[in-house]
Amino acid sequence: MDTSVLATSFSVDLPAWVPDELADWPESLPTLDDRMRLVNRLASRNPAEGNGGPFAAIVTERESGRIVSVGVNVVLASGLSSAHAEVVALSLAQTRLGSWDLGAADRPALDLINNWRPCLQCLGSTMWSGVQRLVVAGSGPECEDLTRFDEGPVRDDWAEQFEARGIEVVDGVRRAEAVEVFAEYGRRVGAGAATVYNARGTGPR
Ligand SMILES: [Zn+2]
Repeated sequence: MDTSVLATSFSVDLPAWVPDELADWPESLPTLDDRMRLVNRLASRNPAEGNGGPFAAIVTERESGRIVSVGVNVVLASGLSSAHAEVVALSLAQTRLGSWDLGAADRPALDLINNWRPCLQCLGSTMWSGVQRLVVAGSGPECEDLTRFDEGPVRDDWAEQFEARGIEVVDGVRRAEAVEVFAEYGRRVGAGAATVYNARGTGPR
């Protein structure tokens, strides 16, 4: 074959508005409530900025709350269907730390903080990243019902599967605020101002 036609690398960029937003936040966020407030803020801004869906994630040190990385969904901006907020945040944390293992014993314990239960893809990405705790605003049907995104055939015992691998799960931080972000996105979809990409079938619900 003519190998010159093959792509040989890909990259994902954090949109420029994200560092601008972070300039107004401290380097460390002491409480889970503070950390989720930032995640919900980023998730709310992301669709309006045209990058992708209403999803954001950050990696922080568990004890200090120091922000290690930030991710938003950039599927539309990057043209890559895997560029979900969790993949972006985890990959940027691993790039910053120079390691594929965010659970290495010589570093502070790290959390992934996310504005909802990850989708089928991102449950795997999170599980294999090495983070020791996953913190979500919620995990019920509200995300799919309000945004119309397809989160995939996630097992009912997904949280138990994480716990069985030594990854703690915390659910229900600033839940109502996260639901309102999804409701706002649903209104944008209804008004023709937002896209529900690649959700060609929702399967059995
Ligand atoms: Zn995902």
